[in-house]
Amino acid sequence: MRILVLGAGFGGLELTTRLATELGDDVEIVLIDRAAGFVFGFSKLDVMFGRTTAPAVHHPYGDAVRPGVQFVQTVIRSIDPSTRRVETDAGSFDGDVLVVALGADLDPAATPGLLEAGCEYYTVEGAFAAREVLDGFRGGRVIVGVTSTPFKCPPAPSETALMMHDFLVARGLRDASEIALVMPLPAPIPPSPFASAALLAAFAERDIAWHPQRIVRGLDPERKVALLADGDEMPFDLFLGVPTHRVPAVVAESGLCVDGWIPVNPLTLETAYPDVYAVGDVTSVGTPKAGVFSERQASVVADRLIARHRGEESTSTYDGVGICYVEFGHHRVARVEVTFRSGERPNGRFEEPSVALLADKSEFGTSRIRRWFGRDWTSY
Ligand SMILES: Cc1cc2nc3c(=O)[nH]c(=O)nc-3n(C[C@H](O)[C@H](O)[C@H](O)COP(=O)(O)OP(=O)(O)OC[C@H]3O[C@@H](n4cnc5c(N)ncnc54)[C@H](O)[C@@H]3O)c2cc1C
Repeated sequence: MRILVLGAGFGGLELTTRLATELGDDVEIVLIDRAAGFVFGFSKLDVMFGRTTAPAVHHPYGDAVRPGVQFVQTVIRSIDPSTRRVETDAGSFDGDVLVVALGADLDPAATPGLLEAGCEYYTVEGAFAAREVLDGFRGGRVIVGVTSTPFKCPPAPSETALMMHDFLVARGLRDASEIALVMPLPAPIPPSPFASAALLAAFAERDIAWHPQRIVRGLDPERKVALLADGDEMPFDLFLGVPTHRVPAVVAESGLCVDGWIPVNPLTLETAYPDVYAVGDVTSVGTPKAGVFSERQASVVADRLIARHRGEESTSTYDGVGICYVEFGHHRVARVEVTFRSGERPNGRFEEPSVALLADKSEFGTSRIRRWFGRDWTSY
């Protein structure tokens, strides 16, 4: 069996690692990504706020090559789901099974004024560049603002506001600054009322202004004001923006999408095309766009492919569970476990922020790098 995996993010890395570990050379696995290496989403915040450096959070794919896996660094230009064939800058590839794990692309240019007057910090380049902007910041009005939905890692803007507070305190700039958080959601983490309450309390304690159910539609670079969808304006000296998300163009053109994302069977991750699966941010499976969900979906696809290779019937189905660590600043991290099942109300469990959970979060990153890349790493 030849398995073609598009995208080496959380989903692609977990899938190919599981397949290579459990099936070895028995299957042929081709993993394609345009990037030279992997960067965790949370590492973007760590670099931006000066906790670590850009080279320290870059994990080159060259290290991840395992028996049975061929990694190809190239841009995918077209996907034909009916023949499971892709065209890339490095030629054509096809598979008996195709897994699309190409994530969500970010389009900062879709928000007028964002690139001219603000910093988007969701791309790797944007977050690393924001670090320099923060280094030169001398205090003033800071807005952390979301510009469209859906967006990856819904807790990340709240974490950004709290980390911004710590950053300004450490530099003696907090008294000269204001922080506002503009989010389209009604609560910081809607499926977890306890996590939301803890975040709202942390905002109040730190004098962070919370603007729920509001969205930034653009920035006016001349007047340095954020233009909100409800017609309001908010002046800023520093704007940290979450840009528009959409499927990569190659996915949009593949015929796999409905309403902008790839629909899948929520239990098996199968698309409408035989032997074509999709996992993670690129899908509309019904979970938030976060690495933990992509990884768990990939694991279900791995179970199913391993069973198929062994001639067995797979009973593995996706359960919608994800565990997420939330930075509260002050060297504390909270833990939220959320379950999203189709037809049921999402529900979440919350563990209060603590220093101990900071170590758990670090182990989350360390364990993935050990498993996917076979080497030691600590986040910072
Ligand atoms: C600031 C921030 C903090 C975050 N914190 C967390 C967190 O704490 N926990 C968590 O679980 N998630 C977090 N996330 C979200 C997480 O990073 C993503 O949801 C996750 O990476 C999605 O995994 P994926 O496998 O679906 O896609 P991705 O990891 O995005 O992988 C997709 C891959 O496809 C490749 N690709 C795309 N198009 C092409 C093409 N045409 N040709 C070749 N390759 C292509 C990309 O290079 C990429 O490597 C955070 C995100 C941000 C921005």
